[in-house]
Amino acid sequence: MSVPALEPIELGFAEQVDNPVFLTSPYFPSKIGGHPAWLNPQHLPSTESAAADGLACPLCTKPMAFLLQLYTPVDDSPACFHRSVYVFCCRNGGCHKTASATGAHCFKVLRCQLPRENPYFGVDANDNVELDSSVQGQRRVALSAPTCAVCGNLGPKKCGQCGRARYCSREHQVAHWGAGHKQACSNASGNVAPTAKEVALRFPEFELVTEPEEVRPGDDGDEDDEAAEKRRMQEFEAAVKDFKLDVQTEEEGKDVDDLFDGSDTVQEEDECFEAFQKRVARDSEQVLRYQKGGKPLWISDVAQCAPGAVPRCLNCGTQRVFEFQIMPQLLWILGVDNLDGNSLDWGTLLVYTCPNDCNPQEASATTPAQPATEPASFASVAATNAKPVPVTSSAYLPEFLYSQQVSEKGSIDLQQRERRAPQPDARPEATNASP
Ligand SMILES: [Zn+2]
Ligand SMILES: [Zn+2]
Ligand SMILES: [Zn+2]
Ligand SMILES: [Zn+2]
Repeated sequence: MSVPALEPIELGFAEQVDNPVFLTSPYFPSKIGGHPAWLNPQHLPSTESAAADGLACPLCTKPMAFLLQLYTPVDDSPACFHRSVYVFCCRNGGCHKTASATGAHCFKVLRCQLPRENPYFGVDANDNVELDSSVQGQRRVALSAPTCAVCGNLGPKKCGQCGRARYCSREHQVAHWGAGHKQACSNASGNVAPTAKEVALRFPEFELVTEPEEVRPGDDGDEDDEAAEKRRMQEFEAAVKDFKLDVQTEEEGKDVDDLFDGSDTVQEEDECFEAFQKRVARDSEQVLRYQKGGKPLWISDVAQCAPGAVPRCLNCGTQRVFEFQIMPQLLWILGVDNLDGNSLDWGTLLVYTCPNDCNPQEASATTPAQPATEPASFASVAATNAKPVPVTSSAYLPEFLYSQQVSEKGSIDLQQRERRAPQPDARPEATNASP
C-alpha cells in the first residue's frame, strides 16, 4: 500500500449550525444533507447519467440525493490543496432493497480536488469569505454551473415562467412548485427564503465535525492469524505458570484453544457485531469514522469486502484504499424511519478512494473517450479490475462504496437496542478540524 504512516482515527459528529452560509463552498465545509457545497462549481456531475460519474439512480433513474461530504485536503500534494469527497444515494428505499437482491448499487461517491491557485477560490482564505464584494466571488458565480433549487445538483432545466429557478429534473420542478415556488415565482426579486416544505425535500443539514477517537489498548483488534496464535500461546503459557497447571495435561482430545474463553471456536453470536457495538458505544453519536489507508470497523462477520475485491481506481488503475465509513447512526440523524420496511437502511457504508488522488485529466489524455462504467455487481468487480476505463465528464471522479448490512444475528440485536436520537449539545469538545 502506498499510504504513509496512519493518522489516528477521526470520528465524525453531526452538529447544528446557526448560519448555513458556513456550509457553503467558500468555507470548504464537511457537512451532512442540504445542498452539496461543490468544490468545482463549474464542471458538475450529470444527474441524467447512471454511469460511474453520473448521479442518476441506476434503478429508478431519478437524481440521487446528497448525503454528505468531507473536506480532506492533502498537505503534501499541490493538486489536492483542496479536496472533497461526496456521497450521494437514491432516497427510494425500494431501490436499495432491489439493489441488495440484485447487486446493483444506489450509492455514489465522487472525489474532487483543486490546487491552491484555481479559478474559483482565492489563495487567501479571506478572499473566499467576502463573497459578494470580492472580485473573486463574482468570478466564481460567473463560472458556476446552474444548480437545482431542490437538490443542489446540476440543474440544466429552468422554470418556464420566471426563468430563474433551475432544476435537475421535472420531478424536482414539480416538487418545488408545490413547496412554495408557486408563490415565489412571481416575486420580482427572486430572493425568497426556502420554505420548510422545500427544506424537507432534502436530507436535514448539519455540519460534520470531527475529533480523534480516544485510543485504548487492543483497539487495533486486527492481528493476523499468526500473531493471534502467538499471543494465545503466550497467554496460555502465562496461565500455566500462574496457576501451576500441568502443561502435559492428560485430558485427551483437549486442544489448547479449548482451555480458553474467547478463542476462535465457533460461537452462535456475530462476534464482529458485538465488537462493533462495544467500540461504537464509547462515542455513541458518531456518524462517521475516518482513517485514510486504515481498516474499517466491520459491523458483521458476514459479507465483508476483501481488500483485493475493491475495484481499482477507474482513472489511474491503482488499488483503492479505505478512507472512511458511514455509521448506522446517520440514519437516526437523518430521521429515516427504520420501522418502515421500505426506507433507506444500511449497516455501515465503507468508502474506498484512490491513494494517488489522481486528477481526471491525467488518464483522459491517453484513454479513448467512452462512457465510464462502474461494475454494477460487486461479484463482477474482479473481472473488470484489469483495465481502467475513462472516467468522467465532470471534475468529479467516481470512487467506490461498499454497503455492509447487519447479519441476521446482529440485526435482532440491533432491533432490541434502544435507538436514541442525537442530542446536538451533548458533546462539549467538538472541534471544527477537518479529518
Ligand atoms: Zn432509485
Ligand atoms: Zn434536483
Ligand atoms: Zn418560476
Ligand atoms: Zn486514481
